[in-house]
Amino acid sequence: MTDVLISGAGVAGSALVWWLRRHGFRPTIVERAPAPRDGGYKVDVRGAALTVLDRMGLAAPVRARDTGMRLARFLDRSGRQLATMDAALFGGRSADDVEIMRGDLTRILRTAADVEHRFGDSVTALHADADGVDVTFARGDHRRFDLVIGADGPHSAVRRLAFGPASAHLRPLGHHIAICTVPAALGEERVELLHPEPGRTVGVYRTAGAPDARALFLFRSPADVLGRPHPAVLSGAFAGAGWRVPELLAAAADAPDLYLDAMSRVRMESWSTGRIGLVGDAAYAASPASGQGTSLGLVGAYVLAAALAEAGGRPAAGFAAYERRMRPFVAANQALAERNLKGMVLGSAGQIRFQTTMLRVLPHLPGRERMISRVAEPIRRAATAIALPDAA
Ligand SMILES: Cc1cc2nc3c(=O)[nH]c(=O)nc-3n(C[C@H](O)[C@H](O)[C@H](O)COP(=O)(O)OP(=O)(O)OC[C@H]3O[C@@H](n4cnc5c(N)ncnc54)[C@H](O)[C@@H]3O)c2cc1C
Repeated sequence: MTDVLISGAGVAGSALVWWLRRHGFRPTIVERAPAPRDGGYKVDVRGAALTVLDRMGLAAPVRARDTGMRLARFLDRSGRQLATMDAALFGGRSADDVEIMRGDLTRILRTAADVEHRFGDSVTALHADADGVDVTFARGDHRRFDLVIGADGPHSAVRRLAFGPASAHLRPLGHHIAICTVPAALGEERVELLHPEPGRTVGVYRTAGAPDARALFLFRSPADVLGRPHPAVLSGAFAGAGWRVPELLAAAADAPDLYLDAMSRVRMESWSTGRIGLVGDAAYAASPASGQGTSLGLVGAYVLAAALAEAGGRPAAGFAAYERRMRPFVAANQALAERNLKGMVLGSAGQIRFQTTMLRVLPHLPGRERMISRVAEPIRRAATAIALPDAA
């Protein structure tokens, strides 16, 4: 039986474990976090990724955990409502698309995968030869695997060890993103509260039944691909901001789970070398701005497992088939990021006024259905831009 090590128990890693088992491989998964990470932020699942969940028999449990968001409300400095928008339209979702908390999705995938997880550990060295890969773990032990797959996110350790430094592959989009848990009272249930200012946007949302809210900070910034930015960067970037931003910044400073990173895409000439391959954000992060990272991870895991199974004992052929099928799909989805970012962080007070006015008049305009479908259509097209191989 082929032993496969997967680094990273996120969306792509957990889905990959499920499909590898289904194809008769023996996967082991190593996750840096000391325990499963619940919660996080909300993510979308669309198009071909919904087909993958369906083929795993997981579409129903995933739909059952939909965030239930209903409205986006745009607010000015003093908290006055400027405009509202349907939450699905705001998220660029078409009829069948699902929005779910990342932690709920990974829990559903992990439970279904039913393999042993090595939590609180990671890969520190890889030595590959023609027949296998010798892996050293942070805990100090060594093991040999037939294949190693990095599913460890945009700052992948496997990618760094096998393909070189992060700076060679991360392509920053000139913005940072921060997200953290904040007290429920700062949010409104099933509503996305948004306060845009030139070059920066703050949002808070509380999903259906959630005991707390999530704050989201987006801001233009110089590139920072080499180091993780310090939380103090956030208060600097939002100095003087209106609405509840000072309160949200104070809550972010105390949050146990502040995530702060430069928004970047990952671009690589090849997603494999010998017996080591990459899947999901590790290989082709589209950035949070694309709204498609989760779907890319699910589809990538499905396609990779199928290609490796089809290739039998020839991993190079399997990795090559995976890339051939995934490349155009990845390109279409990575391309969404810039366009989305332009609507998420506006450059000037004039642009904010224009967007707000458009949102206010849109429901009353003739041809509004066509205009609305123009928002979701490019996302829908990218999300379905792949022919999936048959399920095993
Ligand atoms: C703030 C934010 C908002 C987002 N919004 C959306 C959205 O609306 N829609 C959408 O589709 N996508 C969104 N995304 C992107 C989405 O979360 C990812 O694209 C998706 O989760 C990709 O899955 P992945 O498994 O490749 O990576 P991840 O889900 O990041 O999983 C990687 C896993 O690897 C683990 N890991 C990291 N390093 C190591 C290591 N050295 N050893 C072992 N394990 C390691 C991590 O702990 C993690 O569990 C967002 C991302 C962020 C950060």
